[in-house]
Amino acid sequence: MAVLVIEIIICIFYFVLLLIAAAKMSEIAETKGWDAASLHVFAWCFWFPLFGYLYVIALPDRTQYDEIMEYIKKDKLEEKNSKDVPPKRPAPEPQSKSKSYNLSEISSMSKVGNEDVKYWVCRKCKEKNPDYLKECQNCGTHK
Ligand SMILES: [Zn+2]
Repeated sequence: MAVLVIEIIICIFYFVLLLIAAAKMSEIAETKGWDAASLHVFAWCFWFPLFGYLYVIALPDRTQYDEIMEYIKKDKLEEKNSKDVPPKRPAPEPQSKSKSYNLSEISSMSKVGNEDVKYWVCRKCKEKNPDYLKECQNCGTHK
């Protein structure tokens, strides 16, 4: 007898729980911007709890959706308007003054490739030769 009472209490408890959950799910659907009554959210959640909950979870947030759609429409309208009027060209940039380089920039420019390469100047033709050459690459004079 006692077991039956406990079972009934559990059933009532489960029933109340389903009602509360279904009511809560309807509320969630409403906050998502849907008409819970017309979607029968409460009935779905009560009779098919798992399906009903998933259904509500899967509902997109329509409040944001409407906002986004409005934004897109506005954006397209602006795009149309801007097409009628030729787009303004950006003001030409002022002619850059003779660019000044700092010392490190200059030295990095002159260093092509190997930084360790040093030069020697030919005493005959004043040709600049890399250090590893024993003879001038221009006139052949020995270093
Ligand atoms: Zn030379």
